[in-house]
Amino acid sequence: MSTPLPGRAAPDIAIVNGTVMPMGGGRAIEGGTVTISGRIVAAVGPAGAVDATGAAKVIDATDCVVMPGFANCHTHIASNQLLRGLLEDVRIFEWLKAMWQLKSNFDEETLYYASLNGLIEMVKSGITTFNEHFDAYRVEPEIEALKVVPLRATLGYGFADRGIYASITDWSWKTLETFGDKVAKHHDTGDGRIKVALSPHAVYSCGEDMYRLVREVADATKVPIHTHLSEGTQEVNYCLEANGKRPAQWLESIGFLGPDVTAAHCSQLDAGDIKALAATGTRIGHCPVCNAKLVSGTMPLRAVREAGITVGLATDGPASHNALDMFQEMKFAGLIHKANTNDAEFLTTHEILEMATSGGAAAMNRPETGTLAPGMAADVIIVDLDTTHAAPVYDVAAALVYSTRADDVRTTIADGRILMEDRVVVGVDEKEVRREFRRRAHALKARSFG
Ligand SMILES: [Zn+2]
Repeated sequence: MSTPLPGRAAPDIAIVNGTVMPMGGGRAIEGGTVTISGRIVAAVGPAGAVDATGAAKVIDATDCVVMPGFANCHTHIASNQLLRGLLEDVRIFEWLKAMWQLKSNFDEETLYYASLNGLIEMVKSGITTFNEHFDAYRVEPEIEALKVVPLRATLGYGFADRGIYASITDWSWKTLETFGDKVAKHHDTGDGRIKVALSPHAVYSCGEDMYRLVREVADATKVPIHTHLSEGTQEVNYCLEANGKRPAQWLESIGFLGPDVTAAHCSQLDAGDIKALAATGTRIGHCPVCNAKLVSGTMPLRAVREAGITVGLATDGPASHNALDMFQEMKFAGLIHKANTNDAEFLTTHEILEMATSGGAAAMNRPETGTLAPGMAADVIIVDLDTTHAAPVYDVAAALVYSTRADDVRTTIADGRILMEDRVVVGVDEKEVRREFRRRAHALKARSFG
């Protein structure tokens, strides 16, 4: 809560009359005001305590929640948009193989429209920050799309050197060896909105030398790391056989883990794995929907939290979740962890909301977002609670986690820019994007599978 400094300029945007959920442990403020100046949050507080005089734009958020945009700390946009609904009801490695058949036929223009569709989908569901893991396709089309729909993003270059990912081996080594060029070109661009990351794919697709080089490059360039880890028993068994240790403990033993690592999934962890992650400060991108769908297991959230590990919620890509929708992810997280622990009191609605916002931001090393407070990035969403399915709204957190839908997000602001207002995405023709995307996706499918 704050009162702006005397003599400051009038804010660019004032959001008034909403219930403000600042997150980061902050209490809900009924009839609150959030002001934005340029790219940052200027003030957050009750109406009487925040001076919104002279705001260039005033948004009335009556019957709405004003909260930080979601930080989706593990996803794949471009490729996974093209893989959405391609193959259902199969096991993970069969699924990965079919995905590869399509991936080997990707072209830049198709990836561009897929990226654009994914970015629009996120804007419409209130995701303002995302952690992209590119596995085996080009980054540039998504960077182009981010110029049209400017969300906050960390873009992880995907690396691999074996198994079904062997075809990108040469490219991976070459890119890793010259990674300084990628950093110079793309890291901290778009006023710091865009960062790059190193994304070794997984322990079954990358060997020790590759993980060691990624660690070296990360230390030298100070860019974060984003990898898949311990996703399913097959991966654990592979690692035990190949390296003599379970995935998390093996990566710890070779000095790879650290607080700059976002480890996605972690759906198979034993006590030793949890110790390894906690000791190194490694962060987890938790994807309960995808893990359930691909039968990869459920992350032992209670033990992970007790060990003090930072956890953010994530959708994974639409290939395995089918929707870039943090509302679905929040609800399912509540359900699966209550069911798994047989404890209805485990995981409160507030804790789930934190995992989707401040937790997600922390898990992907983007501390500038995920909470609403003066000086934080102006990544703000306005969510309508005046809906039949949320009424009567006794408790805002309960409404957000268990009743609200992505389509209830009314307005999305990222980095101080209004990207969607009253459900209209600014600066793009959604229908046209869908048409172009659909046409290219179906052509891709035809040339991949005949
Ligand atoms: Zn993934």
